[in-house]
Amino acid sequence: MISFEFATANRIIFGAGKLNELAKQIGELSAKRVLLVRGYSSDAIPRLTEILSESAAAITEFQVHGEPTVDVIRNGLQAAYECDLVIGLGGGSVLDAGKAIAALATNPGDVLDYLEVVGRGRALINAPLPYIAIPTTAGTGSEVTRNAVIESTEKNVKVSLRSAWMLPRVALVDPELTYTLPPPITASTGLDALTQLIEPFVSIKANPTTDAICREGLFHAARSLLRAYKNGSDKEAREGMALASLFGGMALANASLGAVHGFAGPLGGMLHAPHGALCARLLPLVMEANLNALEARQPDHPAIVRYAEIAQILTGDENATARDGLEWVRNLVSTFHVAALSVYGMSKTDFSAAVENTMKANSFKGNPIPLNEEELITILEQAI
Ligand SMILES: [Zn+2]
Repeated sequence: MISFEFATANRIIFGAGKLNELAKQIGELSAKRVLLVRGYSSDAIPRLTEILSESAAAITEFQVHGEPTVDVIRNGLQAAYECDLVIGLGGGSVLDAGKAIAALATNPGDVLDYLEVVGRGRALINAPLPYIAIPTTAGTGSEVTRNAVIESTEKNVKVSLRSAWMLPRVALVDPELTYTLPPPITASTGLDALTQLIEPFVSIKANPTTDAICREGLFHAARSLLRAYKNGSDKEAREGMALASLFGGMALANASLGAVHGFAGPLGGMLHAPHGALCARLLPLVMEANLNALEARQPDHPAIVRYAEIAQILTGDENATARDGLEWVRNLVSTFHVAALSVYGMSKTDFSAAVENTMKANSFKGNPIPLNEEELITILEQAI
């Protein structure tokens, strides 16, 4: 019997040049004072400033550098004073920062009151300020997810602020904003998007809606990622990756993830490495560990058939097996020269803490088969 829920942004606006619709969206939301959360450098800023000048609303800017920490969110909340709309324009870190600021601006108390794992994990009492999320990378899908990943610098771990209320009011996805992304960022964010289509598809929480979205997203990622990496101004490839990223976000928000993301949270806090770079390194290793564990312990498990279907979509060969898909991903990762985790300072002494925290991570619970400590350590040994 099938039963599921599906939730996404209130409105998704997708297409090259759609950034031009921002002033109209601000008008529709009757905003008088807007907080613009953005990264330090974005090629879109001059265009954005021009578009915002058409809007009658007053604009306050708040810049986010690197991954959002608890203190960054606290400062953002001060900047949001008397604002009635938040716009986030940037990569996943910036979008998550904006999402958290929009959520907490209407709720009393401190960030830590609401943060899971390291905080008190309270539920939001009031609906957030409306939030318009505009991604400038094609990877995280944060524009359609209901959580914001925040770093606790005290505990050296990344955790989520999570609420169904946190789904953005508008996800405005304009592939033109990704044309100038350099190849290494295209690769790591693109492999995050690919991971976010593979993990929900084999997740124990997969449902027919997320399955359909994952199949379509995988189709676009398979045809676009290498092309976008080789030629950033390939418009069709950039559009394909923007779709893959959006669909990955929709899938993970409704079907959860797996061991790659189970590792990425704790490792991100320990190593201060970009999320996409960690996922890129871990994806083929986790796929292999999952396939080995499934074949050894549960050879009739439906996830094996799903891995084969992934392989068929990625390779375009209807006879491809699960192992062919693994090979396809491995080749792509090696073409992209993805860095080993030792580059980010990881050593064997970090393994036990990393494994312990991974086993507690929310994402890890979606993995098709529970991996044991030994299997997780083997993955890390290959990754450093
Ligand atoms: Zn991810």
